[in-house]
Amino acid sequence: MILNVEYSCPQNLKELLEQLAHAGETGKIIAGGTDVIPALRQRSPRFVRVKKLIDIRKIDELHRVEQTEKGLSIGSGVTFSEITRHPVIREKFPLLAQAASRVGSVQIRNRATIAGNIVNNAPCADSVPPLLVYNANLVVLSNNGERVIPVAEFLAAPYRTNLQTDEIVTRIELPNIAAGYRGEFYKLGRRRAVAISRITLAVLAKVENNTIEDIRIASGAVTPVAKRFFDLEKNVIGKEFSKELCIHLSRELGKSVMEITGLRYSSAYKLPVVQQMFYQLLRRIETGNH
Ligand SMILES: Cc1cc2nc3c(=O)[nH]c(=O)nc-3n(C[C@H](O)[C@H](O)[C@H](O)COP(=O)(O)OP(=O)(O)OC[C@H]3O[C@@H](n4cnc5c(N)ncnc54)[C@H](O)[C@@H]3O)c2cc1C
Repeated sequence: MILNVEYSCPQNLKELLEQLAHAGETGKIIAGGTDVIPALRQRSPRFVRVKKLIDIRKIDELHRVEQTEKGLSIGSGVTFSEITRHPVIREKFPLLAQAASRVGSVQIRNRATIAGNIVNNAPCADSVPPLLVYNANLVVLSNNGERVIPVAEFLAAPYRTNLQTDEIVTRIELPNIAAGYRGEFYKLGRRRAVAISRITLAVLAKVENNTIEDIRIASGAVTPVAKRFFDLEKNVIGKEFSKELCIHLSRELGKSVMEITGLRYSSAYKLPVVQQMFYQLLRRIETGNH
């Protein structure tokens, strides 16, 4: 099917912002196109107003990964293949590198960008749970200037975010992680490769003398929007990290998920699997047995 839309490829951010502002609701940024093109082909209701695709691939600053004093800045147009291979991301933010390596196939990872994954905001977007536990911020730009927004606040509803039509995500900022944090990422799909996630979990914890000093827990695909479990985290700070605590936390995570989703046809399968996988992740962190 030939798509009946205009196409432009601005050479810099100024041109891009002008085109976005001019196109309003009829404009759509395209990066890797791995969500946009299938959605247009399927005549997704989310894209009925789109008359113009604005390609951001030629804008150099969106493709950079830079270390700053505060942490790491990942350009919005960086692909999952680049993230998977990047030595600093692998070393300092391994949960993101692991999640990136599990997205789709090699062909998809070579095109799919990190910002595209976040802005599309599918419940099963693999990069989001790691970004949530890393307290990542998005830097968003329009002709009115720049704003910085935590990923957790950016995600509004399934396939909806707080991005305005004249705005672009320019980069994702990951604050430095203090020494002593241990983390785990888990993805369950229906098969091993090219699988849409049924469950994703990311956990990051700082444990000192067997006591939880900090813990960050996020899930994807089990709730309508990927989520940080702040209440659960708060209740276990300062507690001894034991097998009993892992069991308790897994039960509580299950309860929180049920409160959000209610009983669904998939609950009989998903709930025990989420609890069991979460328990295993926690035990790996607790015992240091990766
Ligand atoms: C076969 C297949 C398998 C897949 N498997 C997985 C998987 O396992 N896990 C997973 O998480 N995803 C998967 N996906 C989904 C997809 O690849 C990702 O969501 C991808 O990261 C989207 O990035 P993109 O660059 O292709 O975005 P695009 O399709 O170009 O854009 C997606 C959305 O983001 C917006 N956007 C893109 N960049 C910006 C920006 N800088 N600023 C503002 N808005 C922007 C676009 O306007 C659009 O709304 C799969 C897709 C396919 C086709």
